[in-house]
Amino acid sequence: MIIHRHISSLRNYLHLMRKKGLSIGFVPTMGALHEGHLKLMQASMESSDITVCSIFVNPNQFNDKKDFEKYPNRLGSDLDMLYNTGVQVVFIPFTDEIYPPSAPITDNYDLEGLDTRLEGKFRPGHFLGVCQVMDRLLHIVEADYLLMGQKDFQQCLVIKKLLKITGLPTQLSIFPTIREPEGLAMSTRNMRLSPDQKVQALNIYNCLIEIKSKIESEDFEQIKKLAVDRLTRNGFRVDYVEIAETESLFPVSQRNSAQPLVALVAAFLGDVRLIDNMLLQ
Ligand code: AMP
Repeated sequence: MIIHRHISSLRNYLHLMRKKGLSIGFVPTMGALHEGHLKLMQASMESSDITVCSIFVNPNQFNDKKDFEKYPNRLGSDLDMLYNTGVQVVFIPFTDEIYPPSAPITDNYDLEGLDTRLEGKFRPGHFLGVCQVMDRLLHIVEADYLLMGQKDFQQCLVIKKLLKITGLPTQLSIFPTIREPEGLAMSTRNMRLSPDQKVQALNIYNCLIEIKSKIESEDFEQIKKLAVDRLTRNGFRVDYVEIAETESLFPVSQRNSAQPLVALVAAFLGDVRLIDNMLLQ
């Protein structure tokens, strides 16, 4: 496993690999890795000759500074996990190289409203920050394949749009959410939950299951209200429970959409914000 800390050294290395005809898979992360991340690495290693994992906690995508400061750092165990998984390349860039202080960050992207719905509404500027870092990383790695998790459903749609905007040939593949045996979606943020909160957090998954079981027979507004009530009763502060079209994330209030649907939840337990989603068809 090779660790690159500088953009130039990673670029030179990948250039050599490409000249040898090797394909490159890219899994961007913010570290504090878990089984969900490792599944993406494994999938990449099955389909590409070289897998590049980046670890970079992108300050620009945190609308809440405290959330950024509290983001777990487990670099030692991350590297052990990546080594044991067989990942060939780890990229851990310096913030000053990704965002050189001498160059003001002015990039903007027309995400056609995707950045203002759901997560975008509750985390203003979040997806702009995601695009700014991914634009840079994608241009540095120039991967053949980009692997991301359905866990961050809206983020996947944003990156799909970003790839279209930039015209990069990288192909995006989205992989199912990896869950704890009881159903809680694996997340770096789960590390900040107490054992009791972890049990409480299961309500999110159970709400999604309930929404899915009722979607064919019951009123959407009623289904969502029941879910919000259940989460609130169980100690959550709910940002949203929404049923939306999978491509646009336009909220849907009646069962007349020809589009496939997805249920999405974002809610706080204490100061930990959790998100999850489930495809409904
Ligand atoms: P993060 O480090 O949280 O930014 O996540 C890096 C990548 O891992 C993103 O593409 C996430 O969607 C993906 N990911 C995070 N958690 C999971 C999970 N439980 N299952 C599948 N993919 C995940």
